[in-house]
Amino acid sequence: MTPTPPAWPIPDPDVHAAVAAALASGSWGQYHGEHVCALEAELAAFHQVPHALTCASGTVAVEAALRALRVGRGDEVVMAAYDYESSFLTLHAICTRDLSPAKPGFTAAPSAKPVLIDVRADNWQLDETKLEAAITPQTKAVICSHLHGGIVNMPAVMEVARKHGVGVVEDAAQAPGATVFGKPAGTWGDVGTLSFGGSKLLTAGRGGALLFNDAATHQRAKTYLHRGLQQWAPLSELQAAALRPQLRKLREATAHRAARVGELLAQLPSALKPLAASLGAAFYKLGFQYDPTAFGLSREAFVKAMRAEGVAFDAGFKGLHVGRSPSRYRAAGDLTNAAAAHERCVTLHHPVLSGATSDVLQVAEAIAKVYRSQV
Ligand SMILES: *Cc1c(COP(=O)(O)O)cnc(C)c1O
Repeated sequence: MTPTPPAWPIPDPDVHAAVAAALASGSWGQYHGEHVCALEAELAAFHQVPHALTCASGTVAVEAALRALRVGRGDEVVMAAYDYESSFLTLHAICTRDLSPAKPGFTAAPSAKPVLIDVRADNWQLDETKLEAAITPQTKAVICSHLHGGIVNMPAVMEVARKHGVGVVEDAAQAPGATVFGKPAGTWGDVGTLSFGGSKLLTAGRGGALLFNDAATHQRAKTYLHRGLQQWAPLSELQAAALRPQLRKLREATAHRAARVGELLAQLPSALKPLAASLGAAFYKLGFQYDPTAFGLSREAFVKAMRAEGVAFDAGFKGLHVGRSPSRYRAAGDLTNAAAAHERCVTLHHPVLSGATSDVLQVAEAIAKVYRSQV
């Protein structure tokens, strides 16, 4: 029998109890019960920010964040060429409701435009040293995503963004509970975003949230997400009820996963170089710079061999510039490292990191077995 990786979410009696209580109290069937409101307050407290807002998905959260920063058609938004595709596509989707005030010389363009910059060679996160050269008078915002256990240099990004009056969306969908240069992930940017999607570290199957330091930005996001009395892409009471106990345990769960990552990394061949170097990271995925030459296997063959051992490795994201019409973006500088990430990134899915030391040692053993069979 082929071994299978652990399933997610792991059954949690506290989530069970919270959902059962929401059923018993009737809040499961309400527009406005106690849970959404309480979760927003708890998210704000956890992240030490004054405002948090929930919504239907991380993708909606990114769009609401961009709208709150007044990104509209014709504006440029800088992002890494190696990033989550839906954020890129969201920029193309921003064209129908334009909240940005008309500028002198403003000509209607079909959408907001992604401007792609390279990632760093060492960790395949947005390269903060490439940001300034990508900024033009059309630039309205930057999207920074902490990916695969790596961390973007947010202090440096914020310094450039402030200097040029550009807004920052900090996508912490893959890093809830991480500490980024001493602050919670999602609190450096003008807006932080989270996802509660089915594979994520905090999950309700679907869902998302936004974090704000500034009241006016919070208000603009709220306005965008409301039609009259109701939010049009809300989180439900039942989802919020399931999330609250997970958030209470997030700090502990993050420390547990980080300890497992430490144990795993101590055992790995150098042909698998981890993207995570920083203390305080959170691990939705643990990303690696896979070296097919050193390993003696193509990336696809490696992923397949690991899956056959019951270990949940996957290929990373596609580079956003790869196979796409250059009319859909502007490349600011060369995208060499993003092309390498496109070809060579592999990720280990997080559920195994919630297990015991012996579970990650088995992962290390499976990697060693596949490696030995090649060299
Ligand atoms: C999962 C994810 C999102 C949002 O995903 P949804 O499924 O829309 O909640 C956004 N950014 C990154 C980097 C993600 O991994």
